[in-house]
Amino acid sequence: MSKPVLIIGAGVAGMTAAVELADSGMQTILVERLSTVGGNALDLYKAFPTDDCFYCFEGNRRRPGIRKCFYRSALTDQPNIDLKMNSEVDEISGTPGQFSVKLKVGAQYVDPMRCTMCGLCIEKSDAFRLLSPQCQPQAVVYDPSKQDDGAKQAEEECPTKAIDLSAQSTEETIKASDIVIATGYHEMQPTNVDEYSYGKHPNIVTQLELAQILDPLGKSGGSLVRPSDGKPAKRVLMVQCVGSRDENYYPYCSKICCIFALKHANIVTQERNATQVSVVYMDIRTYDRYERYYRESRESGVEFVRGRVSLITPREDNTLDIVVYDSLLDKYLKFSVDLFVLSSALEPPADSNKIIENLGLKSVSGFIGAADPASENEVVVGDHVYACGTALGPAEIPESVTQARAVVSKILQSRK
Ligand SMILES: Cc1cc2nc3c(=O)[nH]c(=O)nc-3n(C[C@H](O)[C@H](O)[C@H](O)COP(=O)(O)OP(=O)(O)OC[C@H]3O[C@@H](n4cnc5c(N)ncnc54)[C@H](O)[C@@H]3O)c2cc1C
Ligand code: SF4
Ligand code: SF4
Repeated sequence: MSKPVLIIGAGVAGMTAAVELADSGMQTILVERLSTVGGNALDLYKAFPTDDCFYCFEGNRRRPGIRKCFYRSALTDQPNIDLKMNSEVDEISGTPGQFSVKLKVGAQYVDPMRCTMCGLCIEKSDAFRLLSPQCQPQAVVYDPSKQDDGAKQAEEECPTKAIDLSAQSTEETIKASDIVIATGYHEMQPTNVDEYSYGKHPNIVTQLELAQILDPLGKSGGSLVRPSDGKPAKRVLMVQCVGSRDENYYPYCSKICCIFALKHANIVTQERNATQVSVVYMDIRTYDRYERYYRESRESGVEFVRGRVSLITPREDNTLDIVVYDSLLDKYLKFSVDLFVLSSALEPPADSNKIIENLGLKSVSGFIGAADPASENEVVVGDHVYACGTALGPAEIPESVTQARAVVSKILQSRK
């Protein structure tokens, strides 16, 4: 029997690759460092291009009509997928086609196959919590640093015996024929971009943080409010290219931040009754089918200012006075807003270099580069090594899924 394929990262790209390889009869080992799968897409609320609530995002072509909850059954019930949560790759050795991979497998305090999410443990102890009602696998997580007497009681009384507080992290070495890197991206935290004062005032947020405010499952139940005091946020100013296209941070264009800013601008004007929404930009880049977001936002009354933010002054009533230089009008404009939203760069995950160096791969601005940059096969990044999704650079979900399918097709072809 051939060796399994190792997939690192269980975001949309890694999950798609795992499910489709497994459906084709191949053994896969899917390693995810967190306690839930889904990656960044879990936090998006509504997603372009369909504007579906992401919780209901379409499954894959083999399971048409079955929505996101398909991941639960596909990942945990599919016998060809060995899903390792709370786990990371420590070291890769061996030769292409015969990799030997040392894994650090985190302690499995709660068995997701047994947990029925009855909630008993959450009532007994603060050490247990539900990450999100939609988390996959559907199970509570346990934080050992918060252990208390209630946790022991929960272990004894759990009706399905899903809890094991004595669980230990382990090391494991596996063999793999191919490696698929799907480690995704990180939204840059612009704390050191001084001009935007991020981290200094609660009403200055990133776009992912805004998505969490808009999410009906979030703290405010989906109401557009100011984090400072929970009062309605009526006036919103967004600024583009934060950390992107900037030699001091990342020289590249993050490609999708104009689109997600416009998606949010449309939601706040059309569904959350914001009265004034303005976007400060250098260029608006809405490629392909996404131009409609730009047209819709103009029709909804969103104001576009080409220029840059030059001064932010917080007021006692938690509003922010913001001065913007309008380079088309050559004059300074003053805004008083409830929420200032930064369209921050998509950056490589902090430790992406480790995998790149370990496997001797090419790096493009910290993301993984194609083995042959001139080839159309950007997903082939080494001998028996592939990458897909935002591990290759900023991308939207449909592109990430398409790349994952390209990887599957390459691996299947190589086995013929
Ligand atoms: C504000 C915002 C809004 C967006 N809105 C949309 C939208 O509306 N529509 C759309 O199509 N796209 C949108 N996107 C883009 C979307 O988030 C990405 O396309 C998608 O999440 C990429 O999935 P991925 O699997 O490549 O990466 P990720 O979602 O980043 O998943 C990577 C996974 O790998 C894991 N991982 C990382 N390193 C390791 C490691 N060393 N070992 C083990 N596991 C590891 C991570 O924990 C994570 O689970 C938006 C992005 C942002 C920032
Ligand atoms: S008590 Fe057991 S079954 Fe119930 S939520 Fe906790 S771990 Fe899951
Ligand atoms: S997509 Fe738009 S906001 Fe993002 S870096 Fe490119 S131009 Fe700037």
